[in-house]
Amino acid sequence: MEFVLASANKKKVIELNELFKDSKLTVTSPQEKLEVDETGLTFRENAFLKAKAYYDKFQKPALSDDSGLIVEALPDILGVKSARFAPELPEYKDKCKKLIELLKDKDDKSAYFVCYLCFYISDSEIYYFEGRVHGKIAEKLSGDGGFGYDPVFLPEGRDGRSLAEESAWKMTNSHRAKACREALNFFTKTK
Ligand code: IMP
Repeated sequence: MEFVLASANKKKVIELNELFKDSKLTVTSPQEKLEVDETGLTFRENAFLKAKAYYDKFQKPALSDDSGLIVEALPDILGVKSARFAPELPEYKDKCKKLIELLKDKDDKSAYFVCYLCFYISDSEIYYFEGRVHGKIAEKLSGDGGFGYDPVFLPEGRDGRSLAEESAWKMTNSHRAKACREALNFFTKTK
């Protein structure tokens, strides 16, 4: 089954197709990026809003990925608003540096990524899957793989290497990989 991805992030399309390889699921980039107001208070609500907008516009099954970084010591920023953090800094490496700066004097640097997938097949057939990966925020950027906040996120059990240095590991252990695995289990059994 083919899904249009409710995002213009080409790296997400690549990651998702890699995660779905050898399955019946494929993901394509949309012909046009839609501006969807992410007014939801949760990842699930925003995943729904994005998937529905793309489904309504293109009249074909849509998949949205709403994800973000939760930093325990900074509960009022990032989270569902991760994509809108520090809008004055367009480059992610600068957003990462700002995050390091905000955490400089905090002992608790723990953080986790969340990924919510919403498969919008029709108005009466909508499925959600969630995945998380735990770790902490680094004191400096490292690595050049991945995207977004990867250079500043140190997943648990990886000897202080960032997600941007752990692209192969990320493919099977990230928040997105876990949500995709749940989705694949479900679609393999039921579709
Ligand atoms: P979304 O595209 O609205 O879901 O925004 C997700 C936000 O979290 C963006 O700022 C992404 O860069 C960031 N993000 C989501 N997944 C990842 C990831 O796997 N690595 C690094 N940053 C991520």
